[in-house]
Amino acid sequence: MNDHFNKLLQINTSGLGCWASIILAVFILTSVGLGWIIKGFVISVALLLIAPLIAFWGFQWWLKRKLILAQCPVCSYEFTGFKSTEFNCPSCGEALQVEAESFVRITPPGTIDVDAVEVSAKTIKEGN
Ligand SMILES: [Zn+2]
Repeated sequence: MNDHFNKLLQINTSGLGCWASIILAVFILTSVGLGWIIKGFVISVALLLIAPLIAFWGFQWWLKRKLILAQCPVCSYEFTGFKSTEFNCPSCGEALQVEAESFVRITPPGTIDVDAVEVSAKTIKEGN
C-alpha cells in the first residue's frame, strides 16, 4: 500500500510539474505571441480601414486620368467626359470626343477638314 501511495504521489508531483511547465510555456508564448497577435490584429484592422481609402484615392486618381472637364465646342456647356470614349453633350446633344484635353465634335467618316465644315455649317445656319 505504501508503495502504491508513493507511486501516486510521484505521478501527482510529476503531473504538477508538467502542468506548471505547460502553464509557464503558455504564459511565455502568449506574452511573446500575444504581442504579435495584437500587432497582427491592429495591422489587419488598419489595412481594413486604409484599403477602402487607398481604393478611393486610386479610383479618384484613375478618374482624374480618365475624366476631363472641358467645354462643349458647340454650346460652351462645361461638363466632364471620359477620355477615349465618344459621348453626347448633355446640353445640346452634339456627339463629342476628347482630343488634346478638350472636347471636339466627332467628324463624320470621310471628312478631313473639320473646322472648314463647321464654319460653313455655321454660316449657312446664320444666313438662314
Ligand atoms: Zn453642347
